[in-house]
This record gives sequence, structure tokens and C-alpha cells, in this order.
Amino acid sequence: MKRPESTKPTNSVLPYQTPRLRDHYLLGKKLGQGQFGTTYLCIDKSTNAHFACKSIPKRKLLCREDYDDVWREIQIMHHLSEHPNVVRIKGTYEDSVFVHLVMELCAGGELFDRIVAKGHYSEKQAVELIKTIVGVVEACHSLGVMHRDLKPENFLFDSSGDDAKLKATDFGLSVFYKPGQPLCDVVGSPYYVAPEVLLKHYGPEVDVWSAGVILYILLSGVPPFWAETEAGIFRQILKGKLDFESEPWPGISESAKDLIRKMLERDPRQRISAHEVLCHPWIVDDTVAPDKPLDSAVLSRLKHFSAMNKLKKMALRVIAERLSEEEIGGLKELFKMIDTDSSGTITFEELKVGLKRVGSQLMESEIKALMDAADIDNNGTIEYGEFLAATLHLNKIDREENLIAAFSFFDKDGSGYITIDELQQACKDFGLGDVHLDEIVKEIDQDNDGRIDYGEFAAMMKTGDEGVGRTRTMRNNLNFNLADALGIKDSSS
Ligand code: ADP
Ligand code: MG
Repeated sequence: MKRPESTKPTNSVLPYQTPRLRDHYLLGKKLGQGQFGTTYLCIDKSTNAHFACKSIPKRKLLCREDYDDVWREIQIMHHLSEHPNVVRIKGTYEDSVFVHLVMELCAGGELFDRIVAKGHYSEKQAVELIKTIVGVVEACHSLGVMHRDLKPENFLFDSSGDDAKLKATDFGLSVFYKPGQPLCDVVGSPYYVAPEVLLKHYGPEVDVWSAGVILYILLSGVPPFWAETEAGIFRQILKGKLDFESEPWPGISESAKDLIRKMLERDPRQRISAHEVLCHPWIVDDTVAPDKPLDSAVLSRLKHFSAMNKLKKMALRVIAERLSEEEIGGLKELFKMIDTDSSGTITFEELKVGLKRVGSQLMESEIKALMDAADIDNNGTIEYGEFLAATLHLNKIDREENLIAAFSFFDKDGSGYITIDELQQACKDFGLGDVHLDEIVKEIDQDNDGRIDYGEFAAMMKTGDEGVGRTRTMRNNLNFNLADALGIKDSSS
């Protein structure tokens, strides 16, 4: 997608100078690691008040577009900051190396972790959670913002107390939208992405779909659209049937299922709006959602689901770290070389010729796949950001050596197995606190020997869940091929 030229200096995110973060705050322990930023505990030197600070290293911002993305995230957080369930942004700081977002501290952990930790849970409690989530969606939409990445990991509790509030924290993919101007970039996270995103023509209704997916998981512990591979998940999203027959659905209220059906309506024009969700009987009528505990199997599945996602995310990060800056720099040079007329975009023809010229071993079919993957907005040309996202994906992520490197990162003693102890260490390294390691291992350990071997590890990595978002540019750009997902063989190849 073409974006207007920015007038900001090339190496800054903020259009103004800021004081230094360290003049006002002390950074404490690491709280979490995102796809491009690290979040630390942050203490106001004058009041001793605690905050969270998301620090984004600028070396991860590869082009102007990446800088604009961070700036937009900051603007949107300010825009929504008055909402009680949106994390409040306190200040932004920038130096030559980092951009820092200081925000309200959410010390209560992630949505699913807390449900699991409580150990019991009813439809009535799910009502409260989904009311909050859809409330945030309604607020976003009424302010002209589309969230685009609603998923449980992006909701944190502000404290560990019983009265803790749930807060939306991550607006990294959010955008301002205008009614009647559909978007086409395929972004989001596989389980939660709406069908019309995959069809590259969508509006704010996508958020209601994602919230519907969250609700389905909240009540059953498994995602509504599931498969062994990413393409399989997309196929399910586009065509799969909603399962309300398996356990625990027979025991769930009809009203809950009615609401889910309306939220997971494939036609966005027919889909219920955020406001209508909040008026649905299951949400508003006190007597509809039962308060009896859900089947305990729901909780254990929820536990498995969330544990699995965490390990995979850590492993993806290890792989991302292996993408050295030289490699990225090299791709930049490659792009310049292919872009013979220096237009900033390359055509398919230029790409094909260019790749051949640099002696790329890519076969015709791979180049075709690369083009399909790269041309995110489907306009027939590829911009630098698109190019980078696609080549990194094609070249690096799936390569065996990267899986091996990631495996050996966890397998510290080189025994050929990842053990619970080793995972414990990795979780500490990544600032992940209360991960259920026994559950992670149980989930991935197919031969039940209490540890993960390479085959089991590779199988997990090849199952779809996270996007291919690694560097800022490619974050959450789903490498999506419609023909693949629909199982259509391309007749031209
Ligand atoms: P990214 O956009 O890179 O995914 P996030 O905003 O999701 O970054 O933050 C990454 C991680 O940092 C989160 O998963 C969470 O663990 C932690 N985190 C983010 N914001 C806060 C906050 N306000 N309070 C406490 N932890 C936070
Ligand atoms: Mg996040």
C-alpha cells in the first residue's frame, strides 16, 4: 500500500524532542517481550509510582513505514486513553537508540492465565469478560479505530486482586479507518483473523469476528477454526462449520451459541455490530447465562492452548534473533538492485529477472509463491516492506537450520531433549512468569516421555498459530495464499 511521504526526520518516530527517559524514570525488571519491543517495570523517580515501559529498539525499525507504524500506535493509544479498559499511556520518550512508551502497569497477568489460575469458571464470568472486550471494540469503532489484532494475549489484568480490571494493551496493528474505504492488508493472528481479511477487503467488522473467536475459546477451551497447518486454519475460517456438538457445547446455554453464531457470521454485512453484541440477551439479561461452573475439561484445554502458544512464540523469537542485521541490510541492497528504475516498487517481472541475476536458486514456483506472499495489497507491485517480509519468510523461518538453532537454544545441555528445567530457564530469559510448563510439555510430547525431542518440536513449529510477525515490518503480516488455503491448484504453474 502506498503511504503519503512523511515530513518527519528519517530517524525519529516522534515529531518532537523529548527529555530523556532516565531523567524521570528508573527501569526495573523485564515484564514481557513482544514481537518488537521489550516491556520493563518502570518507576517514576519523583513519586515512586510504578508503570510499564515498552522499549522499542530503533534498529528493528527498518523503513519509514515502520517508524510511522509506531507513531500511529502511540497516537491511537492517546486517542483511546480515556477508556477504563484501555491501558493508559503516560508518556513517550525517544533517543537515538530507543522509543519508549510509558504506560499504566498491568500487574495481573494475561486473560487466560488468570482464568486457569482461578481453577473455576462459569458462563456468567465469561459474560463479564466478553462485555469488557467488546466494550473496547465499541469504543474503538466509535472513535474511528479498527483494532485488527484482538486476541487473549493482548488483554492484561491491571492487578492480581479480585476487583482487577481487564485492559487492552497492544494497539500495534490498529489503524484509523473511514467508512466505505475497505482495507486490504492481510494482518492479524491466524486463529482470530476474519474471513474477509483473508479475502483482502474488510472494515471494522473484523474486530467483532475476533471477539467471537475469543468467546468461543472462553466457553470451550479450543478455537473454533483449527487445523494442523496455517493454511488449514485459513481454510476452516473461510469454509469450516462451527462445532456446537462436541463437549462442552451441549451443556452451554442456547443464548451463548446464538451470540457466537451472530459474531462468527462470515458475511461482514450480516454480522452483529459491537454495539448489538452489548445488547444481546446473553450479555444483558441477568437470568440467561448460568453461573454454574463449566466442565473442568474446558479449563484444562484452555491451559494447553495457552501454554502451547507461549512456547511457540518463544521459539519464533529465537529464530528471529538469528536474522542478523547484515542479512536484512543485504536484502535492502538486493531490493535496490532489482528495482532498476528506482521507483520504490518492483514488478513481478523485475523480481523474476532480478532474482535470477543475483544467482538465486529459487525455482519458478518459489518465485511465484514469493510474489503471492509479498504482494500483500495485491496491486501487482511489491514495495520494500512487502519484499522484506516475504523474503525473510521464504528464506529463513522455515529453514531447517533455524528450527535446529531454536531447538538447541532450549536444549541447553545438548542432550537432544528439551526438559522442563530447560524450559523454565527459557521462560525466565523471556520474562514469562506463570507459564504452565508441565502442560506445555504434555501438549507437545507425543510419545509421553516427559520431554520434547526434535521431531516433536518441529511438529509444533509447523502447526499454525502465530503470524510470521518478527521484525516490525513483517509483524503479523500473515503469509497468506488464498489458493493454498482453499486447496485450489494453480493452473498456471
Ligand atoms: P508487542 O506489540 O511487541 O506484541 P505488547 O504491547 O504486546 O508488545 O507487549 C509485550 C508484552 O509485554 C506483553 O505480552 C506483556 O507481557 C507485557 N506488557 C505489555 N504491556 C504491559 C503493561 N502495561 N503492563 C505489564 N506488562 C505489559
Ligand atoms: Mg502483543
